[in-house]
Amino acid sequence: MAPVPMPLRNPGFLPRHAFQALFDALHRRGWRVLGPAVGERVVHFAELASAADLQSGLGDVQSPGRYRLGLSDGPRWFDWTVGPDGLKPLVFPPREVLWRAAPAADGRLHFTAEPPDAPRLAVLGARACDLAGLALLDRHFLGDVAFDPGYAARRAALFLIGVDCNRSGATCFCASTGDGPALADGYDLGLAELDDGFLAWPGTAAGEAVVADLPLTEASPTHLGAAAEATRGAAAAQRRALPSRRLASALYGAMHHDRWAAVAARCLGCGNCAMVCPTCFCHGHCTEDGAGAGEAIQVREWDTCFDPAHSRLHGASVRDGVAVRYRQWVTHKLAGWHAQFGRSGCVGCGRCVTWCPAAIDLTAEVAAIVGETGDD
Ligand code: SF4
Ligand code: SF4
Repeated sequence: MAPVPMPLRNPGFLPRHAFQALFDALHRRGWRVLGPAVGERVVHFAELASAADLQSGLGDVQSPGRYRLGLSDGPRWFDWTVGPDGLKPLVFPPREVLWRAAPAADGRLHFTAEPPDAPRLAVLGARACDLAGLALLDRHFLGDVAFDPGYAARRAALFLIGVDCNRSGATCFCASTGDGPALADGYDLGLAELDDGFLAWPGTAAGEAVVADLPLTEASPTHLGAAAEATRGAAAAQRRALPSRRLASALYGAMHHDRWAAVAARCLGCGNCAMVCPTCFCHGHCTEDGAGAGEAIQVREWDTCFDPAHSRLHGASVRDGVAVRYRQWVTHKLAGWHAQFGRSGCVGCGRCVTWCPAAIDLTAEVAAIVGETGDD
């Protein structure tokens, strides 16, 4: 189901005390609401029963290799930036059974496709970078490379409520990739948070129907100015950046740069960076014993180019060593994606920087390898 895009923001104002109306409108349409909550000491998406479940002052402090929850004094619910999960696990689960095979009465193997689990979910608090990442996953799973029915079912069941970022974390660099901090597209309903409430506007026809149920009042020039200033300030606060949005020829020209070996001396090859990346989609398949007698299940699990087995061909890995694997990750994402998808695979969310246990910073490594060079 392709969303029907709406052309322009034309927001109304939803007072904070009336926010429950949004939950009611979503519940009436059969959507469970996922929103920001604390779990495992991070901000992640969890099911919220009502607006009363939203927490004021929830925030985070991030730096290379470090994430801590933080609190602010104000009334806001969306002062956090991005947690480790984002939207990817909702449409592309880390582990998924694809089909089952079991002996039938006639002694032959009977294969059954596993129906996808695709609950109707409204995600409250999708960030601009994550919506850009989801658009890239759509390109991969819904046509450009393959059509994945499980992904398609889960994606069609999502209602995405984007929220402009009013602050940037220290590892964010979406302004340099062109993917944030203000919402651009990919959402059904857009929100910009202010102290006393929200600007709200539809992004799709589905969002327009929900907006029609909200007790909106006219947005004042003060509200509009404050929302625009907040995203401008969040962009200006970013201290990290990629040197260019088109790095293909610069990176391909640096395949033998000494820095690949230097970063490999620190890199653990753990693949955390790929796991948290909202656009990494590599996966592996394996066959396992099922629960029934003689049953086998085909399982798809996330995989990364940091795993030597991921590039095993004829009994040996074609990417021998961490330097080559790190180079593969960076050059595929920032160079090869231009040929595959017409843009870089990085949306500047900063997760790979925050969640790297060796505090390796993609922006610093790329700057060291290509300098200020780019194709644009
Ligand atoms: S490469 Fe890093 S910053 Fe870019 S989208 Fe992936 S996790 Fe985010
Ligand atoms: S760059 Fe960091 S997160 Fe990625 S594989 Fe190396 S050590 Fe792990």
